[in-house]
Amino acid sequence: MKRIFLLFMAASLLSLPLLAQPKIVAHRGFWRTAGSAQNSLTSLQKSAELGLYGSEFDVWITADGVPVVFHDAVWDGMRIEDTKFTDLMNKRLPNGEFLPTLQQYLQLFAKTPYIRPIFEIKTHKTDERNRAVTEISVKLVRELGLEDRTDYIAFSKYVCQVLHEITPNSRIAYLSGDLSPQQVKEMGISGIDYNQKVFDQHPNWAKQAKALGLEVNVWTVDGEEDLTKFAKMPGIDLITTNDPDKLKEILKKK
Ligand code: MG
Repeated sequence: MKRIFLLFMAASLLSLPLLAQPKIVAHRGFWRTAGSAQNSLTSLQKSAELGLYGSEFDVWITADGVPVVFHDAVWDGMRIEDTKFTDLMNKRLPNGEFLPTLQQYLQLFAKTPYIRPIFEIKTHKTDERNRAVTEISVKLVRELGLEDRTDYIAFSKYVCQVLHEITPNSRIAYLSGDLSPQQVKEMGISGIDYNQKVFDQHPNWAKQAKALGLEVNVWTVDGEEDLTKFAKMPGIDLITTNDPDKLKEILKKK
């Protein structure tokens, strides 16, 4: 009996790497579905309904310091960081919603158990603005009790450094793809979140990052073929995709 148990345990341990599956992050929320739009409150709701690990979104501050959830730097000819919130607040997203403030977005996360905010801080024009958007973001995350659930991501090294300084226990991942896993480790942050091309150019980086204890996320992986490829790649912890429903189906079949 004992021998059978040990054999079973050994088999379980051996098969563990095969069972490890990447977690799904919806890129700008789950927006490729009826009634949704990128970075809308609906896209977050749809991510939660799919039971995903995380829902990614992008944050700017307006000229008068209001943090808002939107991807592009410029909307209908207005540069978000140079425009007052009152000049943006009546504009509609493609699904008819108004531009969400960060406060509204985080409030919806707070009301929605389990799903993690994958919080991208966009790169603003100056270090001063980058520090301002980072500080106000962390403050709101704390006020809404989301500190333990929030993963931060940023293309700006400076934003990553400020995050590391003011919220050192948070998960923080660097997006730009121009630093090796070793260099990211030396910054003191917890992960890399790189474009899929970076992993094609540096086939060892996912494994190297894992060996250094970094978390590994890849963006933006869409379509059956690429999703299947990254779902199988050793060292990938998270996949950020515009097709979270497709990835869910692929992982179910594995
Ligand atoms: Mg983003």
